[in-house]
Amino acid sequence: MNHIFSLIDKLEREHSLSLSEYEYLISNRTDETAQYIAEKAVRIRKSIYSNKVYIRGLIEISNICKNDCLYCGIRCSNHTCDRYRLSPEQILQCCYDGYKLGFRTFVMQGGEDPYFTDELLCELIGNIKKAYPDCAVTLSLGERDRASYQRLFDAGADRYLLRHETADTLHYSKLHPKELTLANRMRCLRDLKDIGFQTGCGFMVGSPYQTPRYIAEDLQFIEQFKPDMCGIGPFIPHKDTPFRDYPAGSVDFTCYLLSIIRLLHPPVLLPATTALGTLEPNGREKGILSGANVVMPNLSPTDVRSKYMLYNNKLSSGGESAQHIKELADRMEAIGYQIAMTRGDIKL
Ligand code: SAH
Repeated sequence: MNHIFSLIDKLEREHSLSLSEYEYLISNRTDETAQYIAEKAVRIRKSIYSNKVYIRGLIEISNICKNDCLYCGIRCSNHTCDRYRLSPEQILQCCYDGYKLGFRTFVMQGGEDPYFTDELLCELIGNIKKAYPDCAVTLSLGERDRASYQRLFDAGADRYLLRHETADTLHYSKLHPKELTLANRMRCLRDLKDIGFQTGCGFMVGSPYQTPRYIAEDLQFIEQFKPDMCGIGPFIPHKDTPFRDYPAGSVDFTCYLLSIIRLLHPPVLLPATTALGTLEPNGREKGILSGANVVMPNLSPTDVRSKYMLYNNKLSSGGESAQHIKELADRMEAIGYQIAMTRGDIKL
């Protein structure tokens, strides 16, 4: 019992543990240890970011995807999915609306849709940066080759989110079709960082076949890679995927991992994800109170929101909606935090 508290103290001091120590930490969570580590995570997060919560406007630009990831509701073999893609004009309109609401980061996320060529994206990024030079542009468009990432960066994109999904090769192969490999995912992440993007990795909590050992590998990867951002949220099944009958991940366990990640890499930008808010009405607040410091409300046109269905019941209204930023601000204030209308870059 005391061993786990001393491991948490060690993690706070050294920002590093061995694989088996991480595994022990993961396997021996109790309410008491979760509270102990959350307090430390909040303290260190406040020392760097005070009580500010950074907000990002999330624009889901397309649910058309050439990939067939087994967990994902917009996988290409889901023929019940009602497909859409936004035009560059629609995306610019989202930025216009978002800017007026106070957003200073726009995140363009989507399936791997071949329509979004380098040429099209570069022109779009250039137009966004020209209209809103004080804003950061974040991309989350999956795997591309290095030359493509370089062009997007040169066009003005600032950040790139690409979850590694799992740092274990065998586990990766159970979540993805054989065309997708962990080696290529890691190549992408290295390229992105090398090129100069603020880079984000991350994984789902409670994904099928996940074990404490695999999560320990994820944590060790994060410790070594030192991402600028790290997206972790509970796995939630989607009814039209092969993982439909697997249970969802847990909010409390996700929060525990948020605290661990805060301690192992203190400056990381750590979102309280939509998936967390989807599983519990106060999921996002719980994430913030465990050490998260970012939320990403939905800025997509309202008529497409229900179509970007990565998992069942995905939230896009209320505090998840960019248009209801006031509700989000009130919710954050109720727990002692303040949303920040700035770009919200990492503080290293
Ligand atoms: N095509 C982009 C964006 C993917 S969607 C890319 O590959 O990066 C963003 C994230 O949603 C994924 O990285 C995945 O971790 C998460 N996600 C997908 N399906 C999910 C599910 N069923 N439950 C929880 N999270 C899921």
